[in-house]
Amino acid sequence: MERRRVSLTTLGCKLNATETSSLAEDFRRYGWDVVPFGSDADVVVVNTCTVTANADAECRNAVRRGRRHAPQSKVIVTGCSAQLRPESLASIDGVVAVVGTRNKLTIADHIESYVRRETPLIDVEEITADDFRGAVSSPDDGRTRTHLKIQDGCDYSCSFCTIPDARGPARAMPFEDVLKTLQDLDGHTEEVVLTGINLGEYRSGTHRFVDVVRGINELRPSYRVRLSSIEPNTLTDDIIDCITSSRTFCPHLHIPLQSGSASVLRRMRRRYTPELYERRILDVVSRRADVCIGIDVIVGFPGETEAEFAETMKFLEQLPWSYLHVFTYSERPNTAALQGEPVPADVRRLRMTRLRDLSARRYEEWSNRCIGQRRSAIVEAFDETAQAWPATTDNYIRVYLTTDVLRGKRIDVEIGPLVDGYRSARPVGEAGPLSSSLELRVLS
Ligand code: SF4
Repeated sequence: MERRRVSLTTLGCKLNATETSSLAEDFRRYGWDVVPFGSDADVVVVNTCTVTANADAECRNAVRRGRRHAPQSKVIVTGCSAQLRPESLASIDGVVAVVGTRNKLTIADHIESYVRRETPLIDVEEITADDFRGAVSSPDDGRTRTHLKIQDGCDYSCSFCTIPDARGPARAMPFEDVLKTLQDLDGHTEEVVLTGINLGEYRSGTHRFVDVVRGINELRPSYRVRLSSIEPNTLTDDIIDCITSSRTFCPHLHIPLQSGSASVLRRMRRRYTPELYERRILDVVSRRADVCIGIDVIVGFPGETEAEFAETMKFLEQLPWSYLHVFTYSERPNTAALQGEPVPADVRRLRMTRLRDLSARRYEEWSNRCIGQRRSAIVEAFDETAQAWPATTDNYIRVYLTTDVLRGKRIDVEIGPLVDGYRSARPVGEAGPLSSSLELRVLS
């Protein structure tokens, strides 16, 4: 019998990507072939995001695109947009099931009943605090890193955010399961990225996130560990201490700020002040000078005045960090932020450009300061455009190597200058110049 084919695609965050990868693995276990999204398939799965109005539109486009390339396929839509707006997704041609967050990770188990549907099923249920399902990105999806989901949902109520509605309350993988999974991964990957919606709020019985960090340090795995991101109010002294003094944790932290203005942070209902944020960053940098710090910022939050935006600029200019992820505020239904005065679209765009320029300048300065440093880097698939092997260092610099190197391997590199817009590097130490033997060229 011919094997059935499924294609999957993800919109949004790393957690969604991890879950899609885990779903793909489930389909493989049931004997399906996982084919690239955009090719012909019997089933198409679209894992959606709802972080902005644009993301919702992109989800609908992805559903239509998936079907266009596989006209006979049955489409299953899942994820955050599916949880919040199932009817609008169910009305798209080819959709047989819209599966909410709760049953997302059991799609492969129920696939036979989904594909038999004559009319679209809306399988969206309330998510409860005991509904946790872990996910590990599959090693077969071309990733050189393994993403491990240990936490889901959020109990905060930031005024711009619909994630608590879409993902449900905070919940976590049992502590013993986290350690067991991490132990099992030893020898099978070079890097584990711990992911969650609000990782710092990890709770399992009496265990907190700091216990996960300590447990990893005690485990001393052969791979390195990175955190996807952590809220500043949950980044305690203990966690900073354990991470910055560890040989296992990457010197890289992504810490959302959203605004450097105290009044905007209050209106956003964030759980920290600019002063606390600054203390945390300075503490991290004073303990680990080579750390890479990434920051999320939202511009154009309702009522954000020119003076408040200037506070954010000033705050960021004087802080040590390496790169920004800048987001333009986007109105989301049923959020408290909608009550504020909208910032005109052209002002939002201008503020976005100013922060992106600041980020580009800072990233170049910071990565130039790393020239000559010896760092450990994981090699990715050959990049045809750059005609080089990209690799990501422990402190999150994407470098490009022109010497033959082994994909998926962790090697030591020396960081070099920018060459044609790409950050150069050369293998050093044991990974030093390899012979150009073709056996060593692992390109796929
Ligand atoms: S911390 Fe705030 S922004 Fe992050 S998921 Fe929770 S509510 Fe949303």
